[in-house]
Amino acid sequence: MVAELNALRDKIDETDKALLALLAQRMQLVAEVGEVKSQHGLPIYVPEREASMLASRRAEAEAAGVPADLIEDVLRRVMRESYTSENDKGFKTLNPTIRPIVIVGGKGKMGQLFERMLQLSGYQVRILDKEEWEQAASLVADAGMVIISVPIHLTEQVIQQLPPLPEDCILVDLCSVKKAPLQAMMAAHTGPVLGLHPMFGPDSGSLAKQVVVWCDGRYPEAYQWFLQQIEVWGARLHSATADAHDQNMAFIQALRHFATFAYGLHLCEENVDLKQLLALSSPIYRLELAMVGRLFAQDAQLYADIIMSSPDNIALIKRYYARFGQALSHLEKGDKASFIESFSTVQAWFGDYAETFMTESRSLLKAANDNRK
Ligand code: NAD
Repeated sequence: MVAELNALRDKIDETDKALLALLAQRMQLVAEVGEVKSQHGLPIYVPEREASMLASRRAEAEAAGVPADLIEDVLRRVMRESYTSENDKGFKTLNPTIRPIVIVGGKGKMGQLFERMLQLSGYQVRILDKEEWEQAASLVADAGMVIISVPIHLTEQVIQQLPPLPEDCILVDLCSVKKAPLQAMMAAHTGPVLGLHPMFGPDSGSLAKQVVVWCDGRYPEAYQWFLQQIEVWGARLHSATADAHDQNMAFIQALRHFATFAYGLHLCEENVDLKQLLALSSPIYRLELAMVGRLFAQDAQLYADIIMSSPDNIALIKRYYARFGQALSHLEKGDKASFIESFSTVQAWFGDYAETFMTESRSLLKAANDNRK
């Protein structure tokens, strides 16, 4: 029996090695595609190509008796690797005549990310961080674009402090809130103004499939090339007014981060044994704990700034707190009927999204379980 098993295991090893060789071959081909895209300024992520390729492989997998979801999982993971390595090839310079680009706060996390992406795209980048203010006037004197990437609570002040910029210089910010920085930029500069919010952190690896929200400020024709450049980096652009952006971010960022913070605070005050929780956790709890824990691996100031960036955020969090109390009162009264009624109301409100989220989360949960050591 041992000999039989060993023979089969040897064959599996050989098959895995063949897969490895094929993966290496695929990565080489992708690298060549990267070269061609880089030369021609084509986006690294093309949704239609990805969708049609996956549809074909799924059909072929089914015909071959391989689960369609398996080939899709494998290919999506392989493609993620390809997007990251496509960054190494560099990108086409869409605006070769632009004068130097200055990143204020360029030594920070987002500043470094944009410095790298801009340099990979052939632009000349200068950094104006805390220590460089004495040279600020000379650094921006011939700037084609100035990008503000300082902590949120300093953004308006730094914009007001900028030396005069050339009239045609594009003034951009990357701040996670949009209304106040955009107003400050419009007041400080009479030339082109653009508000950007990259909806991802600096550890994302690649911009492929990431969302960047943009808010028009002034003279949009002057910065279309920059929006296209961000698309070439693989990101998806989404336009919004600064008001609409901030209203949505109250939910996407302020409320969510605060709820996560409160949950982490509670675990800490209860002094739970995280090791025990992890040992006993279901995949969904492991994923939830990871989402809570990752907040505390990041910058407290950034989250304090995001949550407290507007009185509207605090009002929203207070409404959440009140609803939490109302929902708790059902439990205190042992009123299962009211709880179930509330549950049904929310269920109806989510509608088809509930099923969609169920399907989407299923694959995430499987991945969380796969990663278990
Ligand atoms: P960070 O703290 O890593 O970097 C900020 C940089 O600004 C630092 O290098 C700091 O030295 C510099 N700085 C501080 N005061 C300055 C001054 N007076 N003049 C010049 N430079 C100064 O912060 P970050 O995470 O890179 O965030 C920067 C911006 O990007 C923020 O507006 C934030 O909202 C936005 N943003 C961050 C993330 C994220 O996940 N980190 C995501 C999206 C948007």
